[in-house]
Amino acid sequence: MSIARTFSFEFFPPNTPEGREKLRATTRQLAQLAPKFFSVTYGAGGSTRDRTLETVLDIQASGSAAAPHVSCIASSRESIRETLARYRDAGIEHLIALRGDLPSGLATAGEFRYAFELVEFVRHEYGQQFFIEVAAYPEYHPQARNALEDLRNFKRKIDAGADSAITQYFYNPDCYFHFVDQCAAMGIDIPIVPGIMPIHRFSQLARFSDACGAEIPRWIRNKLQAYGDDVDAVRAFGLDVVTALCDRLLEQGAPGLHFYTLNQAGAVTTIWQRLGL
Ligand code: FAD
Repeated sequence: MSIARTFSFEFFPPNTPEGREKLRATTRQLAQLAPKFFSVTYGAGGSTRDRTLETVLDIQASGSAAAPHVSCIASSRESIRETLARYRDAGIEHLIALRGDLPSGLATAGEFRYAFELVEFVRHEYGQQFFIEVAAYPEYHPQARNALEDLRNFKRKIDAGADSAITQYFYNPDCYFHFVDQCAAMGIDIPIVPGIMPIHRFSQLARFSDACGAEIPRWIRNKLQAYGDDVDAVRAFGLDVVTALCDRLLEQGAPGLHFYTLNQAGAVTTIWQRLGL
């Protein structure tokens, strides 16, 4: 019996009218792949609140399901309550609940410290009205005291009522399978969907990876550095690496894939076709 797998695509909210128009075209193109939902990121502290909502409404209006990210750091209960009410009124039933990272220069952490408190809050205020996804870190979260505590902290989010998880991106499938095994041993039985970052440019990927603590394996880093400005070579190599990663993940039972699209359809579509999805 084959188990239903979940495929989803992540966008960030554009900040110009041209960006918004371009994202509509990207959404139309990716909608042809029939993902379960498109998710839209949210700037910590509410900095993209209106643009995240606008983007979510655009996606819904185009006929696809949309899931906003909601991050709670530097936010009050009241502001999160308002945000949730706007989503509920718009017919949204699916959230990605996150802590977020404190914007630089902002001293106050607000009324939430960790994502599990946001999950508790959503369940307390709205019961089962929202399907809640949370973040998972197969290579562990960079601020965690240690790997075991991070696992226990991940479990707090599940115990608080999360339905499913999406991982930070990684390029080493063994870390994902080890993480999933550890979670299973702790009694965590929700789907843990791998987050997939296509490779566009080495400098951009290195910057993201340094910021979020995702490892670029040495052989990939060395190869990308050697290609330098040869955009076609980087692209071709990136497609090979990421397709092979996805293939192995699905082959060994991952419950779907969540693509960090960076608002671009090209790489994801090619990987999708190569996987024969
Ligand atoms: P948490 O689960 O709260 O964990 C954060 C840290 O606190 C971890 O080190 C954890 O071990 C520790 N911790 C948790 N609970 C406790 C406790 N009780 N005691 C002590 N330590 C604890 N960021 C955005 O700003 N906007 C987005 O839209 C966004 N989307 C994302 C989507 C995905 C799929 C992923 C993987 C990440 C995303 N992020 C986003 C980044 C995320 O906000 C950061 O990684 C952030 O640093 C942690 O968020 P979290 O929800 O995992 O936090």
